[in-house]
Amino acid sequence: MKIIRTTQSRLSEVDFANLGFGSGLSDHAFYAEFANGSWDEGRVEPYGPLKQGLALHALHYGQAVFEGQKAYRQADGGIAVFRPRENAKRLNRSGSRMMIPELPEDLFINGLDALIAVDHEWVPRGANESLYLRPFLFGSSEFITARPSEDYTFGIVTSPSGELYTKPVRVKVERQFTRATSGGVGYAKAAGNYGGAFLATREAVKQGYQQVLWTDHHNHEYFEEAGTMNVAFVVNGTLVTPSLSDRILAGITRDSILTLCREWGIKVEERAISVAEIVDAAKAGELNEAFGMGTAAVVSPIEAFGMDEVLHHVPVPADGIAARVRQALSDIRYGRAEDRHGWMHHVAR
Ligand SMILES: *Cc1c(COP(=O)(O)O)cnc(C)c1O
Repeated sequence: MKIIRTTQSRLSEVDFANLGFGSGLSDHAFYAEFANGSWDEGRVEPYGPLKQGLALHALHYGQAVFEGQKAYRQADGGIAVFRPRENAKRLNRSGSRMMIPELPEDLFINGLDALIAVDHEWVPRGANESLYLRPFLFGSSEFITARPSEDYTFGIVTSPSGELYTKPVRVKVERQFTRATSGGVGYAKAAGNYGGAFLATREAVKQGYQQVLWTDHHNHEYFEEAGTMNVAFVVNGTLVTPSLSDRILAGITRDSILTLCREWGIKVEERAISVAEIVDAAKAGELNEAFGMGTAAVVSPIEAFGMDEVLHHVPVPADGIAARVRQALSDIRYGRAEDRHGWMHHVAR
């Protein structure tokens, strides 16, 4: 694989003591290209502009899917990525819905490894910090006829990041806008799903919330997701989360949390959860916790949800399930606990 290193590193400009989330990009990027029916071997290059002009296919017809994952600085100084093959598989599930050709899983993993090795100094060393990894695939031909792109590009860019949503959030039960419909693209990490969600989130923020709790497209009666995270509730000690469907993004954090909870003997249910059920549980004092689950924030505790002008408060116990899974996952990710599931992929430098 070809590696071209920058001669003008921006590393010294980064304020590692005050990292935000996803704003500053690291020195290098990985690129691979699909043309005439096959992928090339890819290359690491200094981060920079694309070669295409304004007819870039993905900008017009939205054949664009992405992933979000993180590389963690281990207690022993090494670097490891959490379950990257799951992200590679999901990128292809998203891509096949958008008619993007399959990306070989090894190209994905080798690209990540090579890029992280070159930019290893960009992996932060502070508590709860990480190097956010953004692999993405998009149609990169230049034409404006409404048919699938012929050429595709796989890219990876990275960004040193602090922790997102550390404070408990207030969420709005969204009953006007819809994130995903049956038969649609909700299960794919498609770029347009995010573009389509920004307006609903902006309206919720104007009303004093930080996020939306998406409900089903049909009657807005059942919970689906919390913003760009999967959602879970703890009712009378049982962890409940919506079952996966073609409207729900199958989160790797969700899967890992359900695995840990089942191992700990916590009762876990994946099923339909109505808004009415959770409102009743909150009123009866049986709603113990509610939280979002995703790579960016790990768990994002929900302290209140707004429904029909009424704000329902949710406990945020310091020793609850959310706090326990957050701690357990970070101990595995930062190499402080034994990796019994083989979740960590160690990157050689
Ligand atoms: C990415 C994403 C998630 C979380 O997936 P993780 O693999 O846990 O990061 C959940 N919901 C939506 C809509 C997402 O885009």
